[in-house]
Amino acid sequence: MATRSLLFLNSSLSTSFPSPSLLGLHRGRRLAMSGAAPIRLSMSGAEAEAGDVRKEDIVIVGAGIAGLATAVSLHRLGVRTVVLEQAESLRTGGTSLTFFKNGWRVLDAIGVGNLLRPRFLEIQGITVKADDGRELRSFIFKDEDESQEVRALERSVLLETLADQLPKDTIKFSAKLAKAETSQSTETLLELTNGAKLSAKIAIGCDGIRSLVAKSMGFSEPKYVGHCAFRGLGLFPNGHSYKPMVNYIYGRGVRAGYVPITPTKVYWFICFNSSTPGPKITDPTVLKKQATELVNNWSSELLKIIDLTPDDTIIKSPLVDRWLWPAISPPAFVGKTVLVGDAWHPMTPNLGQGACCALEDAVVLARKVASVLNSGSTTMEDALKSYESERWPRIFPMTVRANFMGSLLQWDNSTVCSVRNNVVIPKLVRLGPMLEHTNFDCEPL
Ligand SMILES: Cc1cc2nc3c(=O)[nH]c(=O)nc-3n(C[C@H](O)[C@H](O)[C@H](O)COP(=O)(O)OP(=O)(O)OC[C@H]3O[C@@H](n4cnc5c(N)ncnc54)[C@H](O)[C@@H]3O)c2cc1C
Repeated sequence: MATRSLLFLNSSLSTSFPSPSLLGLHRGRRLAMSGAAPIRLSMSGAEAEAGDVRKEDIVIVGAGIAGLATAVSLHRLGVRTVVLEQAESLRTGGTSLTFFKNGWRVLDAIGVGNLLRPRFLEIQGITVKADDGRELRSFIFKDEDESQEVRALERSVLLETLADQLPKDTIKFSAKLAKAETSQSTETLLELTNGAKLSAKIAIGCDGIRSLVAKSMGFSEPKYVGHCAFRGLGLFPNGHSYKPMVNYIYGRGVRAGYVPITPTKVYWFICFNSSTPGPKITDPTVLKKQATELVNNWSSELLKIIDLTPDDTIIKSPLVDRWLWPAISPPAFVGKTVLVGDAWHPMTPNLGQGACCALEDAVVLARKVASVLNSGSTTMEDALKSYESERWPRIFPMTVRANFMGSLLQWDNSTVCSVRNNVVIPKLVRLGPMLEHTNFDCEPL
């Protein structure tokens, strides 16, 4: 961390953030718009006049989990934001995300935990099977940790619930960032694909794994880790009879799983080795066929769930990550531009922690930013530095661990897989230590 802190020296040279009174902001009040007219983000390129730059105080790029959770957290602390989203609406398709107790602590802290809990089944534990159907081991979460809480949430429901907490018009849809110009000392200039330009006193990049904001700060593209995942949501209109357990099935170079998320929906995934990410396929018939072929001789349950998957929920993703090497990776902020979630730390989904960590980032950052704006207790640079120092020791090891876990589970050597199935899983694995990373506490905002 000593070498890392050297990276901060440059950024701490920039000017301090205007005082709360300059921004018209006091505790409990929303950040004033500094008299700026609302941004016409939907204007066409021809309409956008060159040099016409709208001024905003806090701009969040991306209305995914990180962006919305950051906006909700700041809103609860009395700070107004504008959220730019490239899509025409919130992402409605997609599948589900497993949230462990750290994710739930954040959802509670920002006031949406109890809106979501009644809609999703609480998952009791994990059953691990071999690809021949043999049960290798079963774990119950609460036997290991009474405070553990696991539910798989539908992404679309989570996004809608978060968006519902924000004042109307906070999210600007069809507002795709084309270019970000970060600066150590001045405001961040954001240019949209339709020609509109914004200048932000604080810019928060929540634009996911291909983040343009991160790119403008010197981050490299995330690295493909050698496996891809199919995911889908099986629909049982008359209800299913699965126990609320995560079911993992381990084969050679292929692993799969399914988990009931509601009384009528079951999430499934298949993870497989592939030397390249392969071509982008969007045709759901082809995706379903490819997924089925990978597990054709496996559990008939899994095949049934895949078969009952509506087209709009089946997706294939190449798995990527980016390691935040100390002294090598750029810092999480430049001037007053900062990254949250996958934009900063894309990680493989092997620990089910990408979205949970994005939520954690959001509340930690919001508290620090709001404390500067509301009380002026420190400079914004110090607040962003403190955000990075607090979050980096948590997310870097998690990213590395998730990567190693994926490599171990994706082994296709028959001897290694036999040792895994006959010795490691039945006799050596302990769930408690494996879930220690889900310990994270935060006070309500
Ligand atoms: C196979 C798989 C399984 C996973 N399972 C889990 C799990 O079980 N539990 C878990 O916690 N995590 C899981 N994750 C990780 C999780 O999906 C991510 O960590 C999470 O979605 C990150 O949220 P985000 O908001 O940072 O990014 P995103 O969800 O990618 O959101 C980014 C947003 O920014 C917008 N955007 C992008 N570029 C621009 C632009 N130029 N201009 C404007 N808007 C833009 C996008 O449209 C999007 O709305 C999984 C990931 C994968 C691939």
